[in-house]
This record gives sequence, C-alpha cells and structure tokens, in this order.
Amino acid sequence: SDIADIVEFWAGQRPDGVAVRFGDQAWTWAQWQDRIARNVGAQLAAGLEPGDRVAFLDKNHPACLETTLACALVGTANAVVNFRLAADEIAFVVDDAQATVLFAGPEFLPIVEKIRDRIPTVRQVIEIGEPYERWLQQAQPARARPYLRDDCFLQLYTSGTTGFPKGAMLTHRGMTAHSEAVGADSELGPDCVGMVAMPLFHVGGTSWALAALFAGAEIVVVRDIVPNLLLDELVSARITHSFFVPAVFAFMLQVPDVAQRDWSALRLLVYGASPMPLPLLRNSLKVFPCGFRQVYGMTEAGGVVTSLGPEEHRDPAREHLLTSAGKPIPGVEAKVVDPVTGEPAGVGEVGEVLVHTEQLMSGYWRRDADQQSVDADGWLHSGDAGYLDAEGYLFISDRIKDMIISGGENIYPAEIERVLAEHPAIADVAVIGVPDDKWGEVPYAIVVAAPGAEVDEEKLLAHCREHLAAFKCPKSVQVLTELPRNPTGKILKRKLREPFWAGRDRAV
Ligand code: ATP
Repeated sequence: SDIADIVEFWAGQRPDGVAVRFGDQAWTWAQWQDRIARNVGAQLAAGLEPGDRVAFLDKNHPACLETTLACALVGTANAVVNFRLAADEIAFVVDDAQATVLFAGPEFLPIVEKIRDRIPTVRQVIEIGEPYERWLQQAQPARARPYLRDDCFLQLYTSGTTGFPKGAMLTHRGMTAHSEAVGADSELGPDCVGMVAMPLFHVGGTSWALAALFAGAEIVVVRDIVPNLLLDELVSARITHSFFVPAVFAFMLQVPDVAQRDWSALRLLVYGASPMPLPLLRNSLKVFPCGFRQVYGMTEAGGVVTSLGPEEHRDPAREHLLTSAGKPIPGVEAKVVDPVTGEPAGVGEVGEVLVHTEQLMSGYWRRDADQQSVDADGWLHSGDAGYLDAEGYLFISDRIKDMIISGGENIYPAEIERVLAEHPAIADVAVIGVPDDKWGEVPYAIVVAAPGAEVDEEKLLAHCREHLAAFKCPKSVQVLTELPRNPTGKILKRKLREPFWAGRDRAV
C-alpha cells in the first residue's frame, strides 16, 4: 500500500473502527475517508494543481493530517508551519513555500492579517473551525489523481538550529517506507492507540501519526501539552504507544502522582529528537512500567533512522547502551565517516553520521544551490558527530557545528553536559565554546539550578575535573533561570554563543 491510500484501505477493512480522536470528537475510518475525499474535491474546486503548495498554521488539529493526506491524492503538498515562530518567521516560511491556500487556526488569524502583504502567493485563507467545515461540506468527494512515487505531498521545515529553516520535500516513496519501518520497529497494529503529542509541523508529529495510521492504529491528536492533562489522556484514552521529546518527560515527571496512575494499557514510550539526559531517562524508566524506545532521526530522512529498543533499556548488564541511539531501523543503512576525507571511521572513532534509505526527502524546496546534504551516492550527511561500537550501536556525540576546537582538540559539548547533568544541583545545562586567547576557544557551561538547590561554581568545576580530562573542563559556569529552546526541546546554542562571539570570525 502507498501512504496515500491508507485511509481508504482501513476504511474498507474496518469502516466503523475509530481512526482519529481529538478532544471529545472522534471519526471512524469511513467518516475520515469521506472528509479526506471532500478535502480533495475542495482543493480541486479551488483550482489547485499538482505541485502547488498549501500551508497549515495552527496548533495540532486533525484537519492538518486530513489536508496532508488529501494533498497526497491531489499532487499538492502541505507545508506545515511551526506555529511557535514569530510573525516574521512565519511570513518567511509561508512565502518560501509559495503557498496558494493558507489554513489557519482562529488564534493565528491576527498574525496572518499582519503578514498578509508579505505572502503574495496566498489566494485564500481558510480558518480552521466552522469555515473549514463549510469548505469541506460544500465540496464533492473526489478520488485521487495519478501521482508518482517521488512526488512530494508533505513539506516540513528543518528546525533552523543551524541556519534558516529549509523545506524538506517528503515523498510517497519516503513516507511509505518510513511508515512501514517504524510500524514494524515499534510493533504498531490495528489493536494500538497512538498518541500524537509532538507538533505536526515537526517530523516527529506528522510522520509518527502517519506511521500509526499506516498500521491501522487509532490516533489521539493532542492540541496542547499540559502535563497533568496529558497524563489524564494517556490513561483515559488507553494509549498504547506515544512519542515525546525529552522535555515532555521532564514535565510529566513533575506531576506528583505520576507513578500512581494506571499504566496498564501503555506498551511503548518513544523518545528522541534531542539528547535525553541520563538521569531523566533513569527516572522515566522507574515511573512508567512499559517499553521504551529511543529514536534518532531528522527531517531530511522523513523521521526515524535508528532506534534503541526496549530490551536494551532494561538490561543492567548493558547500562552503557542507554546513551546509544541504537541501530538502523529496517531499510536504513548508517555509517560514520571522517568528515574531511570521507573515509569510514574505525570502531569507536568519532566522525560524521551518514544515512542511506528510501525514506530520504527528494530535496529542499527551491534551494537548488543548497542540496549538498545528500551526496552523489545518495548518502545523507546528517551534520551529527557520532561513532559506532563493535556491535554496531550508534552513539551520537553532538552536532558537528557545536563541536568545540580547543588547542587543536575536538571537544563534544554533549559529553560535558552529560557529566554536569548528573550533578544533583543541576536541572538543565548547555556547554558552548567561547573565545580564548590561548586555546582559540574553550568550553563554557551555562546551567539552570535544580529546584531549591544553589549552584556553587567551584564544586561544579571540581565535579567536572573528577570525571573529565582537564582540557574538556569548562573554564567557568554561568547560571540562568532557563535555557532558550526550540519547540522540540533543542537548546538554541547559536543564541547562547552569539554574545560571546560578536565581532569575531567564528560562525555561531
Ligand atoms: P537544522 O538542520 O535547521 O539545524 P535540525 O537539524 O534541528 O534543524 P531536525 O530535523 O528537527 O532539524 O533535527 C534533527 C537533528 O536532531 C539530528 O540531526 C540530531 O542532531 C538531533 N536528534 C534527533 N534525534 C536525536 C536523538 N535521539 N539524540 C540526540 N540528538 C537527536
């Protein structure tokens, strides 16, 4: 089956089974198929042609998935916009996508109004809610147009932690391969209920939702992350599978009765998208008596490329694997190469992580000059530094761009962050390189104190000296009340580095 046909397939198999829940609303597979067919009809009536883009600007809402699946049938593509961006950034993305129709949630209409003259390609704005319902109901249900396997139907933007966001064009071929692989890897099936709590503008939201639907699972779409309500919904909707970023685990663990809830339905909690601090993982494993799976991936690969399964999470003899991103999922090859020579790195040797898979995007939208992340042999250069151990487990060290070069030594901030995160006085930490006359740059720690704790710089540095080589120890420590993060929990290191590097020639 192709991902585009999946709702029709399950509507044939289980027309009255619930496909999607959202708050107190629910749609069966047959009802959902009708809504998607109407969205197709409405797109055709609006004059949308294959290759056109629509854009979607709202918090999580099933209409986003309906539109994405309808786009797959029309030959258009849904560019899902990060709703947490500032108005200027939203204008950049909608304009970059050259969207002709913009779907927007009511709370985002003031922003649309403000940027209206900067998004000249938009011919129609459709408000999510009653106007969207009317748009659907007035349309004649329509069937698919012929499409090619390499046509893009979903355009997701990279999070922009290392530059301007770029629209990764995800295809039928790629998302079908991804859905099959993730479904098999996470044992998703028609008896499962998958929670979609990651934002749909992120690959961890939409591609996770598509994988669950592909497997015939019911999905529960969550609009807002409110820790207490999230726990309520996990229990009451009898969720079997969910995917959260590490920051959401941290929120959930702060709810006082989290361990006393009824977790009998929960089978698998998936986490990834940014590094999981070890103490947080250990606590999560204690609180949730279910399987855990870490996933490592990126927008350009349509989502997950490697994963670490439940067995490795609860094997005391192999505790060190808790910091591994696991092994490639079915259909993915991964290797580590020297970033300069391109030669394969030896066991345990850090280099750049490259992946080869059918899941890959067809390219970045309208960035002909910027396609170098996939080489001539089809390997995606992830921009991540990592290594493989003797058993083939992948360990992600850091982003190559975050690497600190101090006196000729390569230092991966993630290693220092792990050591600092183990200290009881620390709730959150980021290590960056700051300029140094003698060494070029040196590690510098920025920390957030644990509730009620006081940070003693000297003690913290002594803790580092105990666990790290001298050249890796931060030269000083700054305490902040909060670290700047993007919506998927990634620390915005560029922002932290900027004040230190102003006027110097290092690209932050
Ligand atoms: P940009 O390319 O604009 O900087 P981005 O790379 O943050 O954006 P995403 O595709 O959202 O865009 O994120 C992919 C990156 O997230 C990976 O390359 C990796 O650095 C990080 N990542 C994903 N999963 C994990 C994980 N399990 N552990 C550590 N890092 C992870």
